Amino acid sequence: MKVLVLNSGSSSLKFKLYTMPEARVLARGLIERIGEEGSKIHIYYDEKEHEHARPFRNHHEALSALIDRLPELGILESMEELGAVGHRVVHGGEAYSEPVLVDEKVRATIRQLIPLAPLHNPANLEGIEAMAALLPRTPQVAVFDTAFHQTMPPEAFRYAVPEEWYERFHVRRYGFHGTSHYYVSRKLARHMGRTVEELDAITLHLGNGASACAIQRGKSIETSMGLTPLEGLVMGTRSGDLDPAILFYMNKYGERSLDDLDRELNKASGLKGLCGSNDMRTVLERMEAGDEKAALAFDVFVHRLLKYVGAYAATLGRLDALVFTGGIGEHSAKVRRALCERLKILGICLDEERNTTPSTEARSIHADGSTVQIWVIPTDEEGVIARESYRLVG
Ligand code: ADP
Repeated sequence: MKVLVLNSGSSSLKFKLYTMPEARVLARGLIERIGEEGSKIHIYYDEKEHEHARPFRNHHEALSALIDRLPELGILESMEELGAVGHRVVHGGEAYSEPVLVDEKVRATIRQLIPLAPLHNPANLEGIEAMAALLPRTPQVAVFDTAFHQTMPPEAFRYAVPEEWYERFHVRRYGFHGTSHYYVSRKLARHMGRTVEELDAITLHLGNGASACAIQRGKSIETSMGLTPLEGLVMGTRSGDLDPAILFYMNKYGERSLDDLDRELNKASGLKGLCGSNDMRTVLERMEAGDEKAALAFDVFVHRLLKYVGAYAATLGRLDALVFTGGIGEHSAKVRRALCERLKILGICLDEERNTTPSTEARSIHADGSTVQIWVIPTDEEGVIARESYRLVG
């Protein structure tokens, strides 16, 4: 059986086609600039690349072109081979703690949750609705970024705000990147030769977006993103934590509207706000060349991370492992070193040679006597979505 995994954004769409149950990738690709000038589809398969520029006015037209291409290029014999389509959906609110088969009710719930994820849920829903119209007989599965964190206890997910905010407006912490934190914690358990129920770990997903998660015996008990992905760590363009009174102050004295503040905190803050570059590779290059703003951005990034790891170690009460994933977590020995050097107090001891040996595999990087193990585990959110879709349809 083949499973197509879709990650639909507002103007782009990423996909991976899997053959199951072995979860081998047959093709992957990207449709970019949907609804804009110069839209294009890229498909990578069998070490070949297919590129096709065509105007796509919306997700339906873009996905229709993808569905035509897969058999034309011989990647699938026909679309009948496709057993399921798995969708990444950002916000599942309190409604979903597991992946689900999509029906009318699920679509309505994703629609209802749009106010909580105005940038993401509409695009995710567009992908689902387009596929339902194009392949009405193929089951669709929704895998939510929030689902894994639904095990957080109330003391972790409630904000100290008037109760009505929660009861009427659902203001609470939800957490995101759940599929990634779930995947690396399961992979960690396999590598350490234990079950997840025997493990307490902190997982750090450090990409353009970044979040930390405290995982107790396999369950998320605390995570750094909140009602939206804006809370927590310093990210590429997002501020992470800040004093909420800054909003009133900048509204009143900085002549910013609420929309301006929303845009600036999501798109012009984080590493970009501090030094002008949102890409950690550029930040590191500039820092090595002696750029002080880049050095400050790096220091603020690591300092915030350090505070979270310290707090999560205390929250867990016991710590078996610290896991790095995401583009920065997987590739930047420098970020890992800067953090771990300051975590010796927790018995976290890095091995310099293991840390700097390049690899794309899951690997341990702690020193032999380290009380807490340190791991780098490449994430695979799409693989989880493919497996969950196969399991639900199977
Ligand atoms: P996304 O959250 O969009 O999936 P990624 O997980 O790919 O993003 O992470 C992107 C981040 O990873 C960028 O800040 C990029 O600079 C950083 N990154 C990728 N490779 C390296 C590297 N070799 N060293 C440092 N940072 C890296």
